[in-house]
Amino acid sequence: MNLIIFGPPGGGKGTQSNNIVNDFDLKQISTGDLLRNEINLQTDLGKKIESIINNGELASDDVVNTLIEKIILDPDNFNRLIFDGYPRTILQTYSLEKLLKKFNQKISIVLSLNVDKDIILKRINGRVICDNCFKIFNVYFNPPNSKNHNCNKKYLIKRHDDNPKTILNRFETYVTKTNPILDYYKKTSSLYEIDGNQEIDEIYNKIKAILENIRD
Ligand SMILES: [Zn+2]
Repeated sequence: MNLIIFGPPGGGKGTQSNNIVNDFDLKQISTGDLLRNEINLQTDLGKKIESIINNGELASDDVVNTLIEKIILDPDNFNRLIFDGYPRTILQTYSLEKLLKKFNQKISIVLSLNVDKDIILKRINGRVICDNCFKIFNVYFNPPNSKNHNCNKKYLIKRHDDNPKTILNRFETYVTKTNPILDYYKKTSSLYEIDGNQEIDEIYNKIKAILENIRD
């Protein structure tokens, strides 16, 4: 099966998608990784991408589609892709559908994590990392204490690179761009909306149950 996972930035999508990859032997496709990989290979396209990014611009849909096509046509990836953070726009959605069709595949399942704004704010703003053992905690959901952490408290640092305004902007942008895509998949595929406000393990158990019922 090929699947897509949607979720707002900071909504725990990456964690869930890693779990799925491990349990279901899928290959995770994120456009960021594809772009970085192509740059590292220093292909002609990679060099082009590097200069686009160095100019502070975003890679065009054409460039992204070329990279996605390379992945889809690889027989090793046949029917075992999980798209994470792609498609981002309705146009990219149409391109992806076209490419899959060309190589006799389809999206079997679309998972959408629904997470409330204030949960995302707490997940991001509550994050603390230990500078000594690099464990990550959250002051709201998983506070460090004597049971789960042995280092001195002085090592715990809070990172301030995400301010609430930026987080909320990214959230709104995500919702605006993703809603038309979800509407599309509601009509053409199996869309599962999942309550992403729960504990990570609870969310994953739900996802796992859905995927175990799918066979194609
Ligand atoms: Zn530590």
